[in-house]
Amino acid sequence: MEDLHRFDVVIIGSGLGGSAAARNLAKRGLSILVLERGDFVRQERENWEVEEVVARRRYDAGETWFDADGKPFNPRAYYNVGGATKFFGGATLRFRESDFAERPLGGGSTVAWPFGYAELAPWYDQAEALLEVHGALGEDPSEPPRSPYPFAPLEHESRIAELAEALRAQGLHPIHLPVAIDQGDKGRCVKGSPCDGFPCKVRAKGDAENRILRPLLLKKPPLVTLWTNSRARRLETDASGRRIVAVEVEKGGEKLRVEGGHFVLAAGAVNSAALLLASDNARKPEGLANSSGLVGRNFMCHNNTVVLALSPFRKNPTSFQKTMAIHDFYAAVPGGRPALGAIQLRGKIRPAMLRAKQNPLLRRFPRAIAERSVDFWVMTEDLADPDNRVVLDGEGRIHLRHRPTNREAHEALLRRLGAALRRAGLPLVILDRRGIDALQHQCGTLRFGSDPRTSVLDPWCRAHDLDNLHVIDASFLPSSAAVNPSLTILAQALRASERLADELA
Ligand SMILES: Cc1cc2nc3c(=O)[nH]c(=O)nc-3n(C[C@H](O)[C@H](O)[C@H](O)COP(=O)(O)OP(=O)(O)OC[C@H]3O[C@@H](n4cnc5c(N)ncnc54)[C@H](O)[C@@H]3O)c2cc1C
Repeated sequence: MEDLHRFDVVIIGSGLGGSAAARNLAKRGLSILVLERGDFVRQERENWEVEEVVARRRYDAGETWFDADGKPFNPRAYYNVGGATKFFGGATLRFRESDFAERPLGGGSTVAWPFGYAELAPWYDQAEALLEVHGALGEDPSEPPRSPYPFAPLEHESRIAELAEALRAQGLHPIHLPVAIDQGDKGRCVKGSPCDGFPCKVRAKGDAENRILRPLLLKKPPLVTLWTNSRARRLETDASGRRIVAVEVEKGGEKLRVEGGHFVLAAGAVNSAALLLASDNARKPEGLANSSGLVGRNFMCHNNTVVLALSPFRKNPTSFQKTMAIHDFYAAVPGGRPALGAIQLRGKIRPAMLRAKQNPLLRRFPRAIAERSVDFWVMTEDLADPDNRVVLDGEGRIHLRHRPTNREAHEALLRRLGAALRRAGLPLVILDRRGIDALQHQCGTLRFGSDPRTSVLDPWCRAHDLDNLHVIDASFLPSSAAVNPSLTILAQALRASERLADELA
């Protein structure tokens, strides 16, 4: 291997965190290399073909990881420019104020952030503007103090508006779900096309490529250098062990060594931890940035269930379904029930999504059910547990040990939702409980905090142990809250990378 390349900053991963870091650093005239393990997701007919995306799994990497019992599974990892956001559903919510504090939950407690909501609020504003979030102010009983949304909320279609009314009649507060999808009079979104779990053929989705990285690449000359099909294999330190000097890259079958002044790791929660563990050396046999022993630990990914609610006598003609959420059960009731979690509509279920399900009802009647169901994604906080962790075996393969936490709250939330839906005229409520195959909201493997003994990163996402390594992706989260993570990942990525840009410039 020879020294071929050198940049001011090398960013590993072009997903949400990596793109945000590239944007802030590029503004300062630094030379930036973004290494992306996958390729661009092509805009093609198959983007919206359900059989192609769901049954043939055209876009996920088809990797094999191993669960806590050593059983192989497909983690449905998306390795491409823009990372997981190319496939995300666009639900873009802020964590609630209480999510930043330590609270008792599920027989344990959540972990306090090193700062409160107010510190992140201006960065949430920036994140919402960048992704073009559509939402309605003042509807949500759990919403933190905030400025108005940059765009008006997406309208409910008639079936959903009617359901919202029926839920409101029960005393609930269904809200317009904040989403980063360009709909509305002049919006690019083609209603009726699949969205949640699919790439957007017309760039209506506020994903990391469309809204953050692409504008940098389209400038003449481009503001960053992007290498696709370039996988970071290992980080190399200097003799002191305090600085990264280079990254080994596998680029289309070739091995390269890239030097940098500063490194930003943004490979996603599981892969960022895996890369630090894989970069062990004689001085750091436990891997890099790991003096706390916490690299890879405290992995979290929410308790998730898809709920299909239907009346056998009524079809659901909704084309864009992801417009409503219910947060009435989000916060704990003082002296009463604990915090339960979030309920939101998900992208419309299609028959092909049900054919491989365990539940015999879903497998036998996929079309009849999909034509009638109103479909929800129900989420409960997963607590940080040091035994839930990423480890590598002797061949460098990923083992993900995860035993779910806080299950009682999840089951209680499902019961509350089931009762409300039955009262609202949807008597058949089918649960599709998701397990380790639902890693969409993976986070927490390199927790941030002020104390190097109990965290891997400092409150600005710099590794406590290394002078020139930041980790800017979902890994930093010390707690998972119970809302979708992307907006919080982006807000902290903007905050941390702006500070880094100030330092480097
Ligand atoms: C189907 C789906 C639906 C979702 N829906 C929502 C939603 O509605 N709302 C929400 O908030 N969140 C949603 N999410 C989650 C959201 O997309 C993620 O939380 C977010 O993208 C995580 O950002 P990240 O920067 O940590 O990682 P990513 O965005 O995944 O980026 C990691 C990048 O690093 C690259 N990479 C990995 N290893 C290497 C390596 N060794 N070398 C080089 N590159 C590497 C990957 O290819 C990828 O591009 C969804 C996710 C999925 C999969």
